[in-house]
Amino acid sequence: MPRDMSRHATRGHCPPQMFLLCSFLGLPSFHRQDMAGIKRALDRDLERDRRATTLADLAALGHDVFCWCNRCGHNAVLPTPLLAERLGAAMPVPDVGAHLRCTGCGTRDIATRPAWPSPGLVSRHG
Ligand SMILES: [Zn+2]
Repeated sequence: MPRDMSRHATRGHCPPQMFLLCSFLGLPSFHRQDMAGIKRALDRDLERDRRATTLADLAALGHDVFCWCNRCGHNAVLPTPLLAERLGAAMPVPDVGAHLRCTGCGTRDIATRPAWPSPGLVSRHG
C-alpha cells in the first residue's frame, strides 16, 4: 500500500509543488476569462462601496466621520448629523473632505473616512 502511493506520486507528470504552475500554464484561455471576471467583480465591489458609504448610511449606523489633514496630520472626528445637515445626507463620505478646511494649517487637503469603532472595542463589548 505505501509502495503504491509513492509510485503513484512519482508517475504523475507534475510534481506536487509544481501543480499550481502547471494548471496555470495549461489553461491560458480560461485564465484570461477568469481575469476579466475578477476585474468585473472588483469593479462591482468598488461601485457598491462608493454607494454604501454616504453620510446617511453613517448616521443610520450611529458612526461619525474621521477627518485627517494630509498636510499637517491634524485629525478630528466630526459628528455625522452635523455634516449631513451642511453637505447633504447623500454626500459620499470620501467626498466630505473636499468641503472641509483644516483648523490647524488652513489647507483643504483633507481625507475623510467612516470612524468605525475599533475591533478591540467591539470584541470586548460582547
Ligand atoms: Zn492641516
